[in-house]
Amino acid sequence: MTTPPDNLIQPMRLGEGATITGPRNPSREAEARDLVRPPVTDKGSLPNLRWSFADSHNRIEPGGWAREATVRELSVSTAMAGVNMRLDAGAVREMHWHKTAEWSYVLRGQARITAVDEDGHTFQDDVGEGDLWYFPPGIPHSIQGIGADGVEFLLVFDDGSFSEDSTMLISDLFARLPRDVLAKNLGWDEGALADIPDKELYIFQAAVPGPLDVDRIAGAGRVPRWFSHAMAAQEPLRFRGGTVRITDSSNFPASTRFAAALVEVEPGAMREVHWHPNSDEWQYYIEGQARMTVVSTGNSSRTFDFQAGDVGYVPVSLAHYVENTGSTTLRFLEVFTSSRYADVSLAQWVALTPHELVAANLRLSRPLLDALPARKHPVVPAQGDTGQQGRGQK
Ligand code: MN
Ligand code: MN
Repeated sequence: MTTPPDNLIQPMRLGEGATITGPRNPSREAEARDLVRPPVTDKGSLPNLRWSFADSHNRIEPGGWAREATVRELSVSTAMAGVNMRLDAGAVREMHWHKTAEWSYVLRGQARITAVDEDGHTFQDDVGEGDLWYFPPGIPHSIQGIGADGVEFLLVFDDGSFSEDSTMLISDLFARLPRDVLAKNLGWDEGALADIPDKELYIFQAAVPGPLDVDRIAGAGRVPRWFSHAMAAQEPLRFRGGTVRITDSSNFPASTRFAAALVEVEPGAMREVHWHPNSDEWQYYIEGQARMTVVSTGNSSRTFDFQAGDVGYVPVSLAHYVENTGSTTLRFLEVFTSSRYADVSLAQWVALTPHELVAANLRLSRPLLDALPARKHPVVPAQGDTGQQGRGQK
């Protein structure tokens, strides 16, 4: 047998497998170690649950770009589609609407966002890193990069086949209506419409707007449920090994179709084994490295590795954990098409079921079960990180 080079991962474990001797792609294999050499517990044929925006086609326009992860990129993601978008200072994602709800998280920079609802209420706000917004289906809106370097953000839609390339755009609407109809509608002469765009703009460069107060429409009423929310500024739930911030309609009333969690996990610590009873989960990895195993019915489970810029997906009710496998803090988003955040904890289920039954079911000792905390711990610390709750001890 040939000795494999040290720097390459080989599909060998516990005396099984063999080296790869044919063509290979070491950098991609290094990003997917648990595919090249899966844990022995992986079994069966789960669909692919990982996508990297680096593998998405990029739409480049004046002042910005957009790339998406839909069912066309990640076939399992039927309930949600994601977009990663960048707008330079002044650049505008033009006035538009769509039939899906839109949930967004600002990754870097600042944006000015606007909307008008069906009752003529207005919304204008400036958002920055860690803020999010929610626009209900059909509500027209716009996004503009402001500040020194504009904005980069994430969009999530509650339909996996949705494409950001097929939205209702105001430029397209104006170009597609007969000029005399448009002029009559607005009470103008047709000549006033001589310079309107003859096709969609989608993203275009404009001047950076002045202060928000100057931009507001005088006398207009505000939307009753505000469309932006400072998610990262929320006081987190703190656990040994990490933090969780949950945003849903209970603390962000406008967000009736989306719930989300912003999770931070320290090196070696883990988002505990759990599942979601009410929605698929769409994940975005903001920083750090992770691995996730998803367990399905019929003796199947598969493990995937993630890094910043990756998308993960978990079908509703399938059990999973997310472990920090790097040396820095792992930060990721969990997004759900539900008005309320919900998860079921494996540890809590076991702790709160009669221990005699659990002991018989899993052939475990009663004292171990009796020592399990009844309180939910969404993040658990690294093994050997000894704390009061007794986790991590052999
Ligand atoms: Mn939109
Ligand atoms: Mn989850």
